[in-house]
Amino acid sequence: MKQLRRWALGLIIALAALVGVVGLQAPTPAQDAPVQAPPEVTLEIAGLTVEEVAEGVYTLVASTDFPPADFVTTAICNVTIVVGSDGVLILDTFQNAALANLAFATVATLTDQPIRYVVDTHYHFDHSGGNAAAEVLGLPILGRGPIREFMLTRNQELDPTVTPPSVVVNGTWDVWLGDRQVQLVEFEGHSGGTDLVAYIPDVDVLVTGDMLFAERLPYLADGNIRVWQDNLAMLAETYSTATVIPGHGPVGDRTNLDNLKGYLSTLETLALQWQEQGLSLEQALEQASLPEPYASYGFQGMFSGNVEVAYQQITLGHDDAASIRTYFQAQAPELQAL
Ligand SMILES: [Zn+2]
Repeated sequence: MKQLRRWALGLIIALAALVGVVGLQAPTPAQDAPVQAPPEVTLEIAGLTVEEVAEGVYTLVASTDFPPADFVTTAICNVTIVVGSDGVLILDTFQNAALANLAFATVATLTDQPIRYVVDTHYHFDHSGGNAAAEVLGLPILGRGPIREFMLTRNQELDPTVTPPSVVVNGTWDVWLGDRQVQLVEFEGHSGGTDLVAYIPDVDVLVTGDMLFAERLPYLADGNIRVWQDNLAMLAETYSTATVIPGHGPVGDRTNLDNLKGYLSTLETLALQWQEQGLSLEQALEQASLPEPYASYGFQGMFSGNVEVAYQQITLGHDDAASIRTYFQAQAPELQAL
């Protein structure tokens, strides 16, 4: 947790600095000027590469490990751009307005179609912290479940410019970009009832948000280890042939869904062993080492936090929604909503 604490603190300082900078700039109305990324933030500096995943589906793939090299200019998550015959939908906005504007400016290099919708795949601020830039452009921002409440409480302290979705999606929604359908579907497990995936049927592409960390250890602090495994199985079964775009990590296929499920299942098995051996949390933390198949994964700094969550939810059996919320809220503010 120490490593995470250190980088989270850096993030707060950086965000405070950023808010200072943004606060000095007058908002630019959408119609008056084309979107320009600030010159200091480029795809290269942000650590992003643009990958054409399918026809008209582009992902800005973040290359960073965790913690990122720079908390303001390094993109932490992936952002996906879906181009239809009559408009564009963007999934996630990165962690601040400058990076969101970089994504919007990238759209203009890919298509003449206007951006019509922004979707938050969940509330965590590395995915939604750039929403303010979308609001400046007058774009509707779609999110799911208790996302407004979560952002206005949990993210507020980290991000004073917090801008929650203006449209709340529950159930399954179809968004049409001219002749292209994008299905938004609820799934559970990562972020307290705000996880949303997007499926584009005509090219069989699934955008998972943080329901999938690919070749990265996951952030678990307000997830549910057992529910997440069940939902990963459902995702893999429902979208078995799809190209799969994760919230963090490279584009792949259902194998990555199976692998994350395997990691969570390994954690569960370990936690049941700690229960059998009567270990304290401290003993479990001391004894646990990252199992071999995951040694090459990124985000290794997540492991001790993952062990702690596995101990709470599996060893102690505190995995009901209220217990998870209590555990999550007992974390230092800077460790919430990352
Ligand atoms: Zn994330």
